[in-house]
Amino acid sequence: MFRGKFMTERMGKGLAKASILWGLLLGLVALLIALYILFLILPPPVPSLVWQYFTSLDVERARRYQMVMRFSSLLAYLAKTGLLLWLWWSGRAAALASGILRLSGQRYFLATGLFFILIWALLKGVAFPFSFYSSFIVQHLWGFSTQTLASWWVDYLKASGIDLLLSGIGTLLFFWATGRWPFSWWAVAGLILAFWMVVETFLWPVVLAPLFNRFEPLKEGPVKSMVVELSQRAGLEVKEVWVMDASRRTTKANAYFTGLGKTKRIVLYDNLLRDYSPEEVEAVVAHEMGHWKKGHIVKGLLWGIVGGFIFFILLYGILRLTAPGEIVPGQPYPPHLLVVILVFVQLISFLAQPVGNALSRRQEVEADRVALELTGNRQAMVELHVHLARRNLQEIAPHAFIEWLTYSHPAPWRRIKDALKEGEGE
Ligand SMILES: [Zn+2]
Repeated sequence: MFRGKFMTERMGKGLAKASILWGLLLGLVALLIALYILFLILPPPVPSLVWQYFTSLDVERARRYQMVMRFSSLLAYLAKTGLLLWLWWSGRAAALASGILRLSGQRYFLATGLFFILIWALLKGVAFPFSFYSSFIVQHLWGFSTQTLASWWVDYLKASGIDLLLSGIGTLLFFWATGRWPFSWWAVAGLILAFWMVVETFLWPVVLAPLFNRFEPLKEGPVKSMVVELSQRAGLEVKEVWVMDASRRTTKANAYFTGLGKTKRIVLYDNLLRDYSPEEVEAVVAHEMGHWKKGHIVKGLLWGIVGGFIFFILLYGILRLTAPGEIVPGQPYPPHLLVVILVFVQLISFLAQPVGNALSRRQEVEADRVALELTGNRQAMVELHVHLARRNLQEIAPHAFIEWLTYSHPAPWRRIKDALKEGEGE
C-alpha cells in the first residue's frame, strides 16, 4: 500500500517533468517552423555580388521553385507529426496495439511487427500526396523530370519496400533490446546503430545504389586522364570513378563521393559530363577528391555514431518519464510506445538539423578549398557554382536563417564568394 502510493507520487512527478520536456520540444520546433515560414515569405535583399552572375529572373525562378519544394516537405512533416501526436494523445495508438496483441494471440513480436507495419503504412499514406507532388508533378512542371509515371512508381515501391524491411528489422531489434537490457538498452541500440551505419556506408554503393541506377566505370579519354592527373596531384589512389545514368530520371547534374574502404568511389552523373565544360567537370572531380582527402565520410560516420548515442540516451530518459507505469523491467516495452518514439524522432531530427547541416557545410567549404588548391582554376569553380545553381534552381542567396536550418551545402553565392576570395593572395 505504502509502496504503491510512493510509486504513484514519483510517477506523478516524472509525468509532470515529461510534460514539461515534451512541451519544450514541441515549442522549440513550432518556433523554428514559424521563423522558417516567415523568412521564406520575406526573403532578404540579394547581395550585390549575385548580380554579377545572375539575372533577376534566375533569382526569382529559383525562389519560386524552392518555395514549392520547401512548403511541400514542410507540409509532409507536419502531416506525419500531427498524425503521430493524434494517435498518441487520443489513446488510439494504445487501443490499436492492444487490439493487435489480442488478435495475434498475445504473441508480442508478431504484434509489434504488425503494429509497426500499420503505423508505417499510415505515415506513408499521409505523406504520399506531398511525395508524389514534389517528386513527380513539380519535377515535370519545372522540366526536370525525364521519368514516366510507371518508372516513378517502380522507384517509389522499391524505395518503400527497402525502407519497410530495414526499419521493420530495426524496430523489432529495438523492442527486443528494451526487454533484454531494461536499463542499458540505449547503449546496445547505439552500438547496433553504429554497426549498421558502418555496414550501410560500405554496402551502399555496391548493393543499394545499383538497385536504382546503372553505373559504368569512367571510359578512357580526356576526362579519365584528367582524373588520373588530379588524383596524382592530390596524392590519392583513386581507382574507382563511376558514371551514373542519372539522366533517366532528371536533368539536374551532380556528383558524389561515397563508400568505405574497398567500396570508396567518386560517382559522376552522366548529365554532368554531357552538359558541363571540361573545366567545370574538373572542378567537380577535384571537389569530390577534397572530400576523399579530408576523410569526410569517416568523420561524418563518427559524428553520426555520437549523434546516435545521444539520441538513444535522451529517448531512454524521456520514455521512462513519459510511460513509467507501462515499463516493466525484464519485459520489452509495450508496442504502442512506438508512436511516442516516432514523435520523439520527428522532433529531435528537426532540432538536430542545424547541427548536422553546420558540420556538412564545413566539410563542403573544406572540399571546395582543396579543389581550388588542386586545380588552381578559380574561374572554373565560379562558373561551376553559377551553372549548377542556375540549372538545378538552387536558391542563390537565401535568408541566413534558412541556410542555418536547412542547407547541407553553403548557399551558391557564398561558394562563389569563397572561390573568388581563395585566389586573392595568388
Ligand atoms: Zn561536396
